[in-house]
Amino acid sequence: ISPVHVIGAGLAGCEAVTQLTRHGIPVILYEMRPVKSDEAHKTAYFAELVCSNSLRAANIENAVGLLKEEMRRLGSLIMQKADEHQVPAGGALAVDRDGFAAAVTEAVKANPLVTVIHEEVTDLESLEGTVIVASGPLTSDALFADIKKLLQADYLHFFDAAAPIVTADSLDYDKVYRASRYDKGGADYLNCPFYTKEEYVAFWEALCNAESAPVKDFEHDVFEACMPIEEMAARGEDTMRFGPLKPVGLIDPRNGKEAYAVVQLRQDNAAASLYNLVGFQTHLKWPEQRRVFGMIPGLENAEFVRFGVMHKNTYLNSPQLLDKHFNLRNNKRFYFAGQMTGVEGYVESAASGLMAGLAAARAVLELPEVELPEVTAHGALANYISNPAIENFQPMNINFGLIPPLTVRIRKKREKNAQIAARALEALDGFLPALKTEQA
Ligand code: FAD
Repeated sequence: ISPVHVIGAGLAGCEAVTQLTRHGIPVILYEMRPVKSDEAHKTAYFAELVCSNSLRAANIENAVGLLKEEMRRLGSLIMQKADEHQVPAGGALAVDRDGFAAAVTEAVKANPLVTVIHEEVTDLESLEGTVIVASGPLTSDALFADIKKLLQADYLHFFDAAAPIVTADSLDYDKVYRASRYDKGGADYLNCPFYTKEEYVAFWEALCNAESAPVKDFEHDVFEACMPIEEMAARGEDTMRFGPLKPVGLIDPRNGKEAYAVVQLRQDNAAASLYNLVGFQTHLKWPEQRRVFGMIPGLENAEFVRFGVMHKNTYLNSPQLLDKHFNLRNNKRFYFAGQMTGVEGYVESAASGLMAGLAAARAVLELPEVELPEVTAHGALANYISNPAIENFQPMNINFGLIPPLTVRIRKKREKNAQIAARALEALDGFLPALKTEQA
């Protein structure tokens, strides 16, 4: 069997390698570190965690907990090593950073089917056969340019400037109302009204005084083009009221009145389970976003499935490019995996690597394609990154809003999530024997 080329020994790359070799397929793994590094990685380890040492919630009533449990059942190397190297962290799965990365590195390097080459890949077309690109959000500049050439279109984003996203069922509907400006185009927006000047000014002051994440040099230029909400606030008390918080024409149908200022929420997914805060791209630290945006009427108890971000982040406009198997639609020998496919987070990146590796292995062995059930967290991620109906695609953490809802209505969130998780694991367990039989 010809080897598969995997670019990047990060979280996604190491999972892809594991799936391929488990199918008996040799792999050439290219990793540019330690020969060349980027601004976030500090070691020569594979699967280095560049920031937090947490793989987030452990329990399966949380979507990322479910994703992790599914990965265990699918034979994930990242989960095996994370479980072996965990450190106490309450309800989260946190790991001993170096112990974890060293163990992944050792396992991959000890695999007799893997050849590791420490160099920067700059020419994808020169690699023969199947290629999985998993070079991450900080893909080297030369490879970034080469991927652009391969895609033959401006389908590659370099910067992520996104507003926070909240779940629809965490909003306070005694405060929020549905309306479009001047009643045009249906009542598409959810509106959060500041009825008094005092309420608005308190929010404005909190926003002006909130703490931002540090800005790196390379980020300055981009901020000029896409103003964060806190910077708009800093320009004056009323600047936001003449911008995204403009109240005119947004009549509250319950009292026929216009508010002093209005934050609008725009539907973010087809199921209408997620909404984004219009115009709220932000560089505030995440706990500050929760605190300050929680002052917006109706968002007091909002669940943030994604916080606003503004940072360098190489990712594809995947819905236009990739299918559910993380395979390039118009050039089947190329797969993409990891954060660069528009999933967000360590666990999601690893899970996408697992799926790309599995799909590529089956294609190489000429086995029929398999789709992970859409009610699983894996299936939901695969659907999210490959759904061409999605406009303005933004990287996203796994969340229950991406998984098809239950057919019965359950009021209590924890119970509802537990049932979605149980349904997912049952579907996955039903799906696994097919993989095993064909591999045997
Ligand atoms: P990576 O883990 O980055 O792996 C890509 C690998 O490819 C790297 O080892 C790199 O050296 C290599 N590479 C790049 N270009 C080339 C090339 N041309 N040739 C050969 N090798 C190459 N997620 C969280 O869940 N929690 C966090 O706290 C968190 N913090 C983050 C902080 C920063 C600064 C960034 C940028 C992202 C953060 N993320 C976080 C998001 C994301 O989960 C991580 O970036 C994650 O490591 C992505 O996994 P990956 O496998 O896609 O990429």
